[in-house]
Amino acid sequence: MHQIVAAQRAFFNSNATKPVAFRIEQLEKLRVMLIDNEAALLEAIRLDYGKQQFEMFLTELLLVHDEIQVALDKVEQWSAPRDVTPSPLTSPGRSYVMAEPLGVSLVIGPWNYPYQLSLAPAVAAIASGCTVVLKPSELTAHCSALMARLIAETFDPQFFAVVEGGVPETTDLLEQRFDFIFFTGSVPVGRVVYQAAAKHLTPVVLELGGKSPTIVTAGCDLTIAAKRIVWAKFLNAGQTCIAPDYAYVHRSVYEDFLAALAAEIQTADYALANGNYVQIVNARNAQRVASLIDVTKVVVGGDHDVEARLIAPTIMRDVSWDHPSMREEIFGPVLPTMPYDELDEVISAIKAHDKPLSLYLFTDDPATKAKVLAEISFGGGCINDAVMHITNSELPFGGVGASGIGSYHAEAGFRAFSHFKSIVDRELVADPDTKYAPYTPDKLAILRQVAGVE
Ligand code: NAD
Repeated sequence: MHQIVAAQRAFFNSNATKPVAFRIEQLEKLRVMLIDNEAALLEAIRLDYGKQQFEMFLTELLLVHDEIQVALDKVEQWSAPRDVTPSPLTSPGRSYVMAEPLGVSLVIGPWNYPYQLSLAPAVAAIASGCTVVLKPSELTAHCSALMARLIAETFDPQFFAVVEGGVPETTDLLEQRFDFIFFTGSVPVGRVVYQAAAKHLTPVVLELGGKSPTIVTAGCDLTIAAKRIVWAKFLNAGQTCIAPDYAYVHRSVYEDFLAALAAEIQTADYALANGNYVQIVNARNAQRVASLIDVTKVVVGGDHDVEARLIAPTIMRDVSWDHPSMREEIFGPVLPTMPYDELDEVISAIKAHDKPLSLYLFTDDPATKAKVLAEISFGGGCINDAVMHITNSELPFGGVGASGIGSYHAEAGFRAFSHFKSIVDRELVADPDTKYAPYTPDKLAILRQVAGVE
């Protein structure tokens, strides 16, 4: 680990990554690598957890290609020094902000979107001019091994290297001094990473998880709401950090909404056999998610086969906050639902828990939209949709509070891996004596006048 980081530091210090042309060349290489090896990449995910083509392309490769394209189009503009208005004390002279890469970066990825959540941060690192050590998740071993091989074949390890492994390897890596750490994963491991980073005062982005609420109000189109919620929830069999974790539904439409969910699940025809569904990543997680299913509350689904790592799309009704499914992030295809009477009670309940990564609100009422957005803090989300905010790279993606620190995608990603150096640039010509000693009452009066504090 030490040698990899030392080699990357030497390479970074050679300034080789700084020219925008170098970064563009590396982004192009990554794009070609993904295009040339698409079949192998898709096959590796299928081997890891039965994910099929449509979802794989949409949620893994498309989003990474989009990040690459936006970075290729904009990296020059993002990197350009940005002039700001000089203050009275810095005039005459130029004041500007200059982006510089932070240096040697570590990207730690989770298993649930093994390419997207490892490579999209890597795109941001490359665009900003950082070197990258990528540690993908050991749980998706085929994807991890393939990324390691392809990246080793495509890039100089002094610039972009993959370290495979689990907790021991990541622990060793975290002992090294990095200039930036980008972590995606669970809240408990996020704490481990943050503590390790603190030893070296290394800045971090932490993309964490938690329970993302969905609120379905009275008076919205229940069929469309159910269609969008079902799609977002059962995408990747619920193994999505921003999946709707649970749903609060207005009591007046509760029964109708449950019926709409059931109808939509039937229409979507989720089944591994027809390529419409995904396995749970491993037996441990399948067991954990299956144990959250409460047969007394199931209205749709509930079937599971832990050995085959399959859990049917499941809806539970009349769940309360003390139910096991409400005490942890579900991260699987189980949707607990709860009826509510007043929006204020929903807002209070959400605010009594950790700030969510995402929130989804289904309503046509402008006042309800304004109230929820103003009163609840959450990472990002959608009104009348779910999950889709991640697909617009112009929107910074990240959590707040326990759901994460910092954000990325497109320019936000570039900014995360960059330091913004503030510069005052002046001519070497004589300037007024005002600021120089000896200090006199007249000089103080001028200073007060300039500051507007007379
Ligand atoms: P995880 O925290 O178990 O693992 C993430 C990474 O950390 C892996 O590479 C793993 O090898 C490493 N790791 C695990 N334990 C470690 C330890 N003790 N010390 C050092 N490194 C360790 O998370 P996961 O199971 O891969 O992913 C699921 C979690 O990630 C969920 O909570 C989900 O919400 C969250 N997530 C968040 C986002 C986001 O963008 N905010 C995206 C996907 C997943």
